[in-house]
Amino acid sequence: MRATDATRIYFDRAADELDLSPSMRTLLQTAKREVRVKIPIERDSGELVTFVGYRVQHNDARGPFKGGLRYHPQVDLDHIRALAALMTWKTAVVDIPYGGAKGGVALDPASCSTRELERVTRRFVDATHDLFGPDVDIPAPDMGTNADMMAWIMNQYGKYHGFAPACVTGKPVEYHGIPGREEATGRGVGALTLKLLGRLGRRIPGTRVALQGFGNVGTHAAKYLHDAECRIVAVGDASSAFHNPEGFDVLTLLRHARANGGRLAGLDGGDAITGAELLACDCDVLIPAALGGVITAANANAVRAPIIIEAANEPVDSEADALFSARGTIVLPDILANAGGVTASWFEWVQNRQHYQWGINRVRQELDRILGEAFEQVWQLSQSRQVSPRTAAYMLGVGRVARATVLGGVA
Ligand code: NAD
Repeated sequence: MRATDATRIYFDRAADELDLSPSMRTLLQTAKREVRVKIPIERDSGELVTFVGYRVQHNDARGPFKGGLRYHPQVDLDHIRALAALMTWKTAVVDIPYGGAKGGVALDPASCSTRELERVTRRFVDATHDLFGPDVDIPAPDMGTNADMMAWIMNQYGKYHGFAPACVTGKPVEYHGIPGREEATGRGVGALTLKLLGRLGRRIPGTRVALQGFGNVGTHAAKYLHDAECRIVAVGDASSAFHNPEGFDVLTLLRHARANGGRLAGLDGGDAITGAELLACDCDVLIPAALGGVITAANANAVRAPIIIEAANEPVDSEADALFSARGTIVLPDILANAGGVTASWFEWVQNRQHYQWGINRVRQELDRILGEAFEQVWQLSQSRQVSPRTAAYMLGVGRVARATVLGGVA
């Protein structure tokens, strides 16, 4: 199944519930602009290589396009198109004044030096700078890209258009970024998990959590949930996975990963398990925070967790989602669960535009408020319409974009 087919299933379900006309469905599903660019760079060895980059600007009915820039070998137009649409619904679910976009370059960042990645990033800006800007389209980090690359984007964009820190978010704190942005996605995942547990009448202390992925999102989610007295009973990354029914000490996990190049391999204090065993382990909450497409029809029946929090984008595919709906497993969808990152990006953009800094406490307070309100709206809608949280989140997001489209005028 193509990536766009999967997101279309969720869109169609919400559009049916909202009774949207066929013409409005076509309008909302069609990307406004899709760009493919050639990125030739010289490797450190002097060899000339050519990469291909994409930017899909899906919808700007509610505000400037907003979405990450991904460096990954499997980047292609269909995948970027699907992720761009996901951003449109995500910014609408949390009701921040943005549309949706996504970009990417098909390359393996691990096979490039830092200097080569800088050349790729600056050439990508050379090829696309007329398409973005603080009021037009605002990129951010995604898989394979980081804060330093966002600094290069701001710097390169400035060579064409002058000083404009709000042209990109997720920048280093020392270079027009904000404290609290880096932790925001994981913090949001943790905070929303607690909200869901509360709504389900489940006791929070002692809740057993299995976590796949121990990068930016996974580490911050683990910290937040550990502070709330949940037990992280399984944890894994690309290198290995471990199980401890008593729960891991998260500070030890963090120390180990920090001393080990970010990897969990070699961890003491738990039994080594496979990645498949992690997804199937006995726990109350499963948090896939690594890759998309890790839970499919092939392994969904093995998943024992009654609650799944989609910290990654599209970790549960649409067939697995249907199986979970049928058997009553609750899935908190990506367009809500991991929306903390784009919400804090909005705070960064606002502060850049005001040349003002809020401080970490205000960032956390505002983040918790916005995610909390979005959660309540999704939850109420799912209860009143008797639909899954995913369908409710899509109804909220798609409905808001449809309304803005009508208000803005379509012709
Ligand atoms: P990251 O690169 O910091 O960490 C990814 C983690 O996943 C690493 O621990 C890596 O070892 C692990 N991993 C990779 N392949 C794996 C595999 N096959 N099995 C198990 N683990 C594997 O990335 P991140 O920023 O933490 O993002 C994680 C996910 O969350 C991605 O899907 C990303 O698109 C999504 N997301 C991130 C943000 C953000 O602000 N960082 C926002 C929204 C969504």
